Amino acid sequence: MPERTTPETYSGAHVVVAGGGVAALEAAFALRALAGDLVDLELLAPEPKFFYRPQAVFEPFGGVRVQAFELGELAEGLGAQLTLGELASVVPAAHVVRTTRGMTLPYDVLVVATGASPTAVLRDALTFRGPADADRVAAVAQASAHGDVSPLTLAIPTRRTWPLPVYELAFGLRSITDRPLTLATVEPAAGEALGRTGSAHLTALLASRNIKLVVDVSFERFARETTIAAPELRGARIYGLPADDDGFVPTDRFGLVFGVEDVYAAGDVTSTVVKHGSLAAGQADTVAESIAAAAGAAVVPTPFRPVLRARLACGSESIYVRRDLADPDDPGLVSGEPLWSPPAKIFARHLAPALAEVARRHQRSLFWVT
Ligand SMILES: Cc1cc2nc3c(=O)[nH]c(=O)nc-3n(C[C@H](O)[C@H](O)[C@H](O)COP(=O)(O)OP(=O)(O)OC[C@H]3O[C@@H](n4cnc5c(N)ncnc54)[C@H](O)[C@@H]3O)c2cc1C
Repeated sequence: MPERTTPETYSGAHVVVAGGGVAALEAAFALRALAGDLVDLELLAPEPKFFYRPQAVFEPFGGVRVQAFELGELAEGLGAQLTLGELASVVPAAHVVRTTRGMTLPYDVLVVATGASPTAVLRDALTFRGPADADRVAAVAQASAHGDVSPLTLAIPTRRTWPLPVYELAFGLRSITDRPLTLATVEPAAGEALGRTGSAHLTALLASRNIKLVVDVSFERFARETTIAAPELRGARIYGLPADDDGFVPTDRFGLVFGVEDVYAAGDVTSTVVKHGSLAAGQADTVAESIAAAAGAAVVPTPFRPVLRARLACGSESIYVRRDLADPDDPGLVSGEPLWSPPAKIFARHLAPALAEVARRHQRSLFWVT
C-alpha cells in the first residue's frame, strides 16, 4: 500500500488516545513530553486501572502480586482527561468516535491502542492470558508441587500469541516442583522471536533445568497431560477502521492507519507479527513523534523499527535479549546484564519513569521498573 506522508498540522489539537495499556500510556506520556501544551489529551479506557502484566508470571509461585496503577492518577500527572468507555467505532469523516455505550467523542487526532483479545485455542487446557489467570495457574503449580499433577505441559499452540511469558512460567514451575515438565511449541525453535542466539541460549537454559522442549508441534496430534497454554491473539473489530484477517489494524511506518485521515494505531492492536510491550512502546513513541511534529514541536519523526528488547526471567537468573526484527539475519544479542537503560521489564521510555514516580509517591517499590 502507498505510504502517506505526515499530515498538515495539528496545532492545538484534541488528541484522543483509546486504551489504557502500555501503548496508550507510552503514546500519551511521550506526546506530552514532546509537544507540551501544543496538544490537549484525552484517554479513553474501559477500566480505571493499568495492570503491570509482566508480574503475572511470578504471582503463581508466591512471588510478587501484580501491581495496578490508577489511570486517573496517571492521567492527572499527564494533564489529560480520563474518560471511561470502550471504543466501538470511528467515523473519520466526522472526526468522532463512538463507544459501546453510545457515547460520542470528537477528536482532531485519534490514537488507537486497544490491544489484542486473547482467546483459548486448546480445549481442556488452562489458558494463561495474564493477571486474571494467575490464581488458576497457582492452583496447578501447587498441585504439581504436591505431586497431585504429573506430568505437566506448557503449550504455545499458535504463533499469534505472547510466547515469552510461557517460558517464564516453565522456569517458575521448575522452581517449585521437580515433576516432569514439558514445553511444547509450534515454533521451530524455542523463543523464535529472540533470534538464533537468544533461542540457543533459551534452549540451553531449559535443558539445564530439566524442562523437556518439543518444537514444531502439531497440537492436533500431541498427547497432552495437564496443560497450561498460551492464548491466540486477535484484534477486536473497531468499525470504521481497516483490519486484516485476524482483526489487526494495518499502519504505515509512522503509525498512521492505512487509508484513514488523522488516525494512528500502536501496540498489539496493529498487524505486527510479534506482540510485545517493547514493540508496543516503540510504536507509541513513533506515533507521538509524528503527532508532536505536526503540532509544531521541534521533533523529526523517525519511522518505527521493530527492535525487540526482552527481559526473560528464567528462574533465579534473567537473560536480556535485543533483536532487530526488521533484519531476518540478526541473530540477536544476549546478555545477563541489562542491554538498555532504564532496565525496565517493559521497555517504555516515558511510561517507566512515570510508573516509578507513582510507586515512589505511594511508598511501594516497583519491581524492575527503576
Ligand atoms: C503474562 C504476560 C506477561 C508479559 N510480559 C511482558 C514483558 O515482560 N515485557 C513485555 O514487553 N511484554 C510483555 N507481555 C506482552 C505485553 O503485555 C503486551 O505486548 C503489551 O501490553 C501490549 O501493549 P498494548 O498497549 O498494545 O495492549 P495492552 O497492554 O493489552 O492494553 C490494551 C488497553 O486497551 C484497553 N482496551 C481494550 N479494548 C478497548 C476499547 N475498545 N476501547 C478503549 N480501550 C480498550 C484495555 O483495557 C487496555 O487498557 C506480557 C504479556 C502477558 C500476557
